[in-house]
Amino acid sequence: DQAREAYQPVFVISDLEVDSDTWDHSLQARLESALSEDRISIKLQPQISFATGLIVGAEALARWVDEERGEISPERFIGQCERVGRLDDLTKRILLKSLRAANSLGIDGHKPTISVNASAIQFLDDRMAVMIGESLSQTSMDPSKLTIEVTETARIENFAIARDVFEVIKQSGVRFSMDDFGVASANLDAMLELPFDEIKIDRKFVSRMTTSKRARAIVANIIRLAKDAGVLVVAEGIEDRESFDLLRAMGCDIGQGFLIARPLSLSELKETLDLQMDMPTFSHKLG
Ligand code: C2E
Ligand code: MG
Ligand code: MG
Ligand code: MG
Repeated sequence: DQAREAYQPVFVISDLEVDSDTWDHSLQARLESALSEDRISIKLQPQISFATGLIVGAEALARWVDEERGEISPERFIGQCERVGRLDDLTKRILLKSLRAANSLGIDGHKPTISVNASAIQFLDDRMAVMIGESLSQTSMDPSKLTIEVTETARIENFAIARDVFEVIKQSGVRFSMDDFGVASANLDAMLELPFDEIKIDRKFVSRMTTSKRARAIVANIIRLAKDAGVLVVAEGIEDRESFDLLRAMGCDIGQGFLIARPLSLSELKETLDLQMDMPTFSHKLG
């Protein structure tokens, strides 16, 4: 089926090897012009409430399609942006695009939230606070509708600095989500040290819920952890109905994944939101 087709297993070790071979000068030049010509776009993946079945938010995912090389995965070009010192530039562009998109959605205060990804290492000085503040004022966006998903929290060595930066940003009303929760790049100490409002269970656990008792135990206990800590919990990478039902029974708040919707263009998301007005749950789709 559709979800299976799009699922491409990633073999990390060979991927890294291929990466250093294929990220050549020509691709670097292409990345530079894609950045300066603002050709890196976003797709928006809906997030639904398990309680209501309604779309309550969307995650912005960076997309770069090169004329010659085709689609380059965000994991690859974001890593490259970081290596060449262009990560802030990219993040600013993605933030602005995401906030503009979110601003054009929803009616009468029923705006979905927008989640934008950022790497943990970007919170070790005040650049992110400045960027987020500027993007919010440039778009007149309600700060409480913006969630920053922080990846690779394991890379933070000095939590005291990051905590200060988080607090400054949070004062404006922006929310923080800890992405990829449960894997080595995002572990419990960051949850202890930083004032996250939300955790996103890594899709590694979600995708194995139906076949692994351990995966189910891990997911159930991350959900319980979130409840006890008083933070929202999101499951990503939901691909089948059985996992969806399990997550709902476990009390998960928000769900995201190919079963619900793939990352969409802004106009596709608008159509989906319009459809929701006529048929206000995903029950038609989820049977
Ligand atoms: P992430 O933030 O954990 O995003 C979720 C990834 O899972 C996305 O991959 C999404 O397309 C994919 N996904 C969503 N639902 C499903 C599903 O049901 N099954 C499967 N197999 N995959 C699903 P994508 O778009 O390739 O992004 C990969 C990663 O790149 C993101 O992981 C995030 O860490 C990073 N990324 C993407 N956009 C940005 C950005 O603007 N800034 C930063 N710093 N990182 C970004
Ligand atoms: Mg994310
Ligand atoms: Mg993730
Ligand atoms: Mg990820």
